[in-house]
Amino acid sequence: MPELPEVEALRDFLTEHLTGREIVRVLPVAISVLKTYDPPLTALEGRRVAAVRRHGKFLDVQTADGPHLVTHLARAGWLHWKDSLPSGPPRPGKGPLALRVALETGAGFDLTEAGTQKRLAVYVVTDPQQVPGVARLGPDPLADDFDEARLAALLDGERRQLKGALRDQSLIAGVGNAYSDEILHAAKMSPFKLAASLTDEETARLYAALRGTLTDAVERSRGVAAGRLKAEKKSGLRVHGRTGEPCPVCGDTVREVSFSDSSLQYCPTCQTGGKPLADRRMSRLLK
Ligand SMILES: [Zn+2]
Repeated sequence: MPELPEVEALRDFLTEHLTGREIVRVLPVAISVLKTYDPPLTALEGRRVAAVRRHGKFLDVQTADGPHLVTHLARAGWLHWKDSLPSGPPRPGKGPLALRVALETGAGFDLTEAGTQKRLAVYVVTDPQQVPGVARLGPDPLADDFDEARLAALLDGERRQLKGALRDQSLIAGVGNAYSDEILHAAKMSPFKLAASLTDEETARLYAALRGTLTDAVERSRGVAAGRLKAEKKSGLRVHGRTGEPCPVCGDTVREVSFSDSSLQYCPTCQTGGKPLADRRMSRLLK
């Protein structure tokens, strides 16, 4: 799933490739992706792209004097840039293609979604704040005014565990399952540590890990072509998705805790004083 760094890289890429270009056609191939009906998709056609922005994990293509095309790629969605789009109309119901945006130059992009769970969402709005998920977003952790005091204020009185708190888009925008694992590994903190329990020193450490991890990932992703971003993301991860591999910091074995629809990875030596966290699935396998 694309998170803040990948969406930021897509924003960069689209800024370069879309700004000033005219959108000639927007083809909804999977009708279910479109979450709004007024203004219609056709309101985007014939307009030039004025700017491309990011709100958390949402991409926002703003047209000049026209509506915004806002997209959330969700878990299995992706954006594919094409210098030359096929001329024939796409066939609905076949394959992962969800939406196609064609420019006057013949180039454009496809939004695709793999798998059977369809979560990719497209909104056409006059103001991005009309998208409920955008309106709910907490502060952007890479914003200039997101300082240590801001993080401390967000965590103060936060009764959840760090893993859940970091992933909550209404608390901090843009961090998902992968980068929350990476941030907690860099901060050397247990994913189950209570957010409100952090000392000033720990808050400073978490802040440095949050900014450092995301900034590094944005730097790595920048300039990488849209099609290669997923591989780039994976290669930069130190514990997420690396169960059973050695921790690159200490060499201990990366472990996981599984949940019904996701899992988290961590290093016991770096994060939990060497003690493995309880995992329902693992304990069942060991019985
Ligand atoms: Zn380690």
